[in-house]
Amino acid sequence: MIITDNHMHLDPKGLGIEAAKKFLRAGGTHLFIVYKYAKDYGIDVKDEKDFEKAYDIVIELCREVNEKTDLKAYCIVGIHPSEVVELYKKFGERKTWDLCTKTFDIIAKKYEEREIIGVGEIGRPHFPVSNEILEFCQKIMNKGLELSRDLDCAIQLHLESFGNKEKFYELEKIVKRYGRKERVIKHFAPPNVKIFDKIGIMPSIIASEKNIKEAIKGGNRFLMETDYIDDLTRPGAVMGPKTVPRTTFKLLNSHILSEDDIYKIHRENIEKLYKITLE
Ligand SMILES: [Zn+2]
Repeated sequence: MIITDNHMHLDPKGLGIEAAKKFLRAGGTHLFIVYKYAKDYGIDVKDEKDFEKAYDIVIELCREVNEKTDLKAYCIVGIHPSEVVELYKKFGERKTWDLCTKTFDIIAKKYEEREIIGVGEIGRPHFPVSNEILEFCQKIMNKGLELSRDLDCAIQLHLESFGNKEKFYELEKIVKRYGRKERVIKHFAPPNVKIFDKIGIMPSIIASEKNIKEAIKGGNRFLMETDYIDDLTRPGAVMGPKTVPRTTFKLLNSHILSEDDIYKIHRENIEKLYKITLE
């Protein structure tokens, strides 16, 4: 049975490949390893080449998981909105824009060379910032959506939490204008599966039992993730690497998820979005 974690971070200073092995032992088979911040890989960004160095570390970690375990790992890199905020404060608007657009060219090259499978996290910060910075983050997000549309590759968006319905329709509008909705994923999504279905964007939902029980009421058009951060200084800050398989099997045993649901969530939805075949 294919069991996929759509959003996990592995940190060279954390458990790294050992966290992936935990996922495997719990029944996981496929995972998407998402880039965190350059500073997590010991890199202080001054120009786009520094981003590339950080990306290469994640790509290497991903390669190691594929070589040393029975898992299939895919790599996703982007510019996290928190990182955009920091760069903006440090370098100002012009230099940050220039740096980010040059970095997007590097991402495009890495996608074309199949070193990565998609773009992310890109989007808006989840914490309050000035209007000026928020507008800038939106510009970068639009550019990221254009990049994914031009490459026709998946993009994982990081956004503030969606308390009201207006947020979903606002996102739909932005994606319609800049992106390609068949490739857009909202990472850390709330379990409002029906409304995501309506706007045509794929929710990637944090795999707590409570969330998935709620999500499945709206159908099986969603993905599951842990957003595991692999930070040893913050144990328990987010879910552990075993959560996706554990929740899936538990809800299968209690007949809340069917085998068909699992096939759809862990395989079909993933295959369509990323244009890949899982084996
Ligand atoms: Zn994340």
